[in-house]
This record gives sequence, structure tokens and C-alpha cells, in this order.
Amino acid sequence: MEILYQSTRGGQEPVRASEAILKGLAEDGGLFVPEKIPKLDISLKQLGDMNYKEVAYQVMKLFLTDFTEDELKNCIDRAYDKKFDNELIAPLVEKDGVWYLELFHGATIAFKDMALSILPHLLTTSAKKNHVENEIVILTATSGDTGKAALAGFADVEGTSIIVFYPKNGVSRVQERQMVTQKGKNTSVVGITGNFDDAQNGVKAMFGNKELAEKMNANGYQFSSANSINIGRLVPQVVYYVYAYTRLLKNGKLAEGEKINFVVPTGNFGNILAAYYAKNMGLPVEKLICASNENKVLFDFFETGIYDRNREFILTTSPSMDILISSNLERLIYKIAGEDADKTRELMKSLSSKGKYTITDTMKAGMKDFVGGYATEEECAAEIRRLYEKTGYVMDTHTAVASAVYAAYRKESGDKTKTVIASTASPYKFANSVMQAIDESFKEMEDFALIDELSSTSGTRIPNAIEEIRTAPVVHDTVCETKDMQKTVEAILRLS
Ligand SMILES: *Cc1c(COP(=O)(O)O)cnc(C)c1O
Repeated sequence: MEILYQSTRGGQEPVRASEAILKGLAEDGGLFVPEKIPKLDISLKQLGDMNYKEVAYQVMKLFLTDFTEDELKNCIDRAYDKKFDNELIAPLVEKDGVWYLELFHGATIAFKDMALSILPHLLTTSAKKNHVENEIVILTATSGDTGKAALAGFADVEGTSIIVFYPKNGVSRVQERQMVTQKGKNTSVVGITGNFDDAQNGVKAMFGNKELAEKMNANGYQFSSANSINIGRLVPQVVYYVYAYTRLLKNGKLAEGEKINFVVPTGNFGNILAAYYAKNMGLPVEKLICASNENKVLFDFFETGIYDRNREFILTTSPSMDILISSNLERLIYKIAGEDADKTRELMKSLSSKGKYTITDTMKAGMKDFVGGYATEEECAAEIRRLYEKTGYVMDTHTAVASAVYAAYRKESGDKTKTVIASTASPYKFANSVMQAIDESFKEMEDFALIDELSSTSGTRIPNAIEEIRTAPVVHDTVCETKDMQKTVEAILRLS
């Protein structure tokens, strides 16, 4: 069955998967959504006997229906290879009665590698299929992890170049070092003086700028997005939820048909939306627990049905979740509005003009699969310490937000459903905050000294991704004001 993609705002004809991947964002500013979510066409038991790549093929082929078997398998093979330091790709680790699904074994040790290691291949394959001759320019705003993962994915991929904007004072030191040392002649990294939402808005404005698009085209370029709004990011993320469930089933941890909860540390709402898609494909899922840090817009939204970004933006120790506008939420809004594009457009218009919107009671009832929760900075640090002291396992600050939210949820609700927590980053990426959570005396130490401490504390080996940047030279040092983002892009591409 062919799946086409339509805009959440209704202003564009449905397109094939490869076209949606190429475009990133729909022309009317909406997000592409599958006309319907396909059902798994193979049993969970059979999937349990397959490895990660095989599961990936079984899931992704149902969404990317205009890719041939060869094309899709080729993309999967090139993505989930030796770049991952664990052959299971996404191993499950049981600690204190919960499973942590480790999504950080890729090139940049954060979960965004799961999708960004395959996106460049999906994109270049899509370009070929659609006879695109322009060079594809990936324009990305990052709160830290996307940037590096996208840079690593696209570096030296023929027919592409990539420009990444990040908030100069809004990412961890290790995250920044990872980006500014990025090799590859087609890569550019720019710090901006604003926050992540400013970066994201600036990028969105460039995507929507018709004049700029024409100028680009005249110079042999066209934009595409590697941000989590691209359907080519979302679809690969559905895979690991199916994979996780089928591992537990195969190992006898779950009975056939038994439901599980997923807890997801959330920012842009991409990762948890993928879990929702997995549920809609037929995976037995009970609750989707959406964990926020102190930027708890989503928690408030699930409580009240009011999405309100008019609030202080808080810098936390889980910077990849410091977000006030969760772009991917638009896809859920569209779904719970009964796929009503007019309603979605109206709400999104209200979000951009007033910074808020209110959903109807019927829409709110459509979100019953979701539970919102949030953890404060203190709760997050205490959770890192608690799990470490109890089990010796060290988790990162983002995972800790989810873990803390889950502990509170379980206590309040008494829900005993078996639960998987998405573990989204290696603790080595946030060694400072992690070590300080375990022992306050670590405050005054330098980054790489802390990384060595973390290695001995946790008894784990320092990942290659970290070793590499210890000594690598800084090759990107451009900083610009938010208002100059477009000028900077024009200069990088030497547009005339
Ligand atoms: C991006 C990111 C998140 C948030 O994921 P979304 O898909 O944006 O909700 C959580 N943790 C880490 C480490 C991340 O990099």
C-alpha cells in the first residue's frame, strides 16, 4: 500500500516519501504526516528473531513506500555499521526494575545519531529518485546534539553541504567542542547570540523565504532540513521502539500482547512522537510518558490543554531539552484534531502571533495515551546519584529527567506496567553535570579531567567520540547575531 505525505496545514498536494524527505517542511509551513500510519505486517515474534537492520527494514519499508528494497536496504546498511560501538545498535540495560534503552552508541554518543546516520543516505537517494541536480544545503538549528550528529552524518557526503546554527551560550562545552572541531570541506558551524528558539526561528524564516530560494536555485543550491521535523528523521526513530519491545518479548521478559510504557525525555517532541507512531502501528504500548525539564511547556499542556510559550526560558543541565516550541507537537495536534488542517493552521497561527493556543476538550481526550511530567534540576541530580549509589550505573542528565519523572509517576499512579526509558545521551557528553550530581566536590575540575573521573567512577571506557575531540583543532569560529543569520548563509554559499 502506497503511503503519501500531506501537510498538517492542508496547503499542499500529498507527496511521495522521497519528496517529503527532500522538502523537509511543506510549502505552507506545515509538517508532512503520513496519510495513515501503516500497521506492522509481520508478527512481533518474527521481528524478535531479526537484528536491528532487519527490524529497521521491516518498519521503514511501510512508511517509505516509494523506495525500492535495494535502495532502502542500502541506506540502512550504510547507517547502522561500525560507526556504532555496540553491535546491538540500541542495547537495553535493566537497572533497578526498569529498562534503559541506550540510544547513544553512535558516532556522537547521543540519540540523534539513530536518525542522522541514515538521513543523509535517505536524502541523497531521494534526490536521485527525483532527478535533483542542485546541491542540497542542509540548514539546521541545534540545541546541541542535533548539530554534531548532523555534521557527522553529512560530512563529505557528495552533493550536500551543511550549515549548523547553535546558541553560543546554550550548549555544553563538550557539545560545542564536538561541533567546532568538525572536519569535512562541506561543513559550516555558526554560533548565534540568541537561544535555541531564536536559532530555530531564524532557520524556519530562511526555509520560508521565496526570494532566498530563487537566489539559491540560480546558484545551483536548494535547502533541505535535517531537523527533527523531517519525516526522514522521524521514521528511523520508530524502529528502536519496535526493536526494544521485540527484544523483551524474545527474552521472555514480556508475555505475548503484554503492554509496556515508554518514558521519553522530551524537547522538540520528535522522539516521543516516534513512540506514538510505533503504538499506532500495533505495538502494545500502554502509556507514553513525556518527561520535561524545568522548561515544562509540555507538562502544562498535557495538564491544561493550553500550550503557552510565554514564559522565562531556563538554561538547565539538560540543554537538548531547553525548548519552548516543540515543533513536532504539530503532528500530534493534527492527529487529535481529527486530521483537520484548518484547525491545525489556526492553532499554529495563534502560536506564532500570541505564543499560545488552547485545544478543545475533544482534542484533549485524544491525548489519553500521554502522561506529562517534569523534573527540577535538583530532582534530576538526585536521580543520577540515587541510581549510581544503588546500581553503579551512571546516566546522563537528559535520561535522568525521564528517570526522575518515571519514579514520581510510578509512586503516584501505582502503575506497575513494565517500562522502558529512552536513554538519550552518554554521560560522557555531560560529564560536568553528571559528576557534580554524584559528588559536589567535582565542581572546580576541568572538562577532560572530569571525563577521566567519570571513567573510573562508572568503570566504563571513554567513548571514541570523546577521545577524538581532546586534541582536535578548532576549525569553526564564526559567531553572528540572530538577525544576521541569513547574511551569514549567503556569505558561506557565496550567493550572487
Ligand atoms: C534531542 C534530545 C532530546 C529531545 O528529543 P526530542 O526528539 O527533541 O524531543 C533528549 N535528549 C537528548 C540527549 C537529545 O539530544
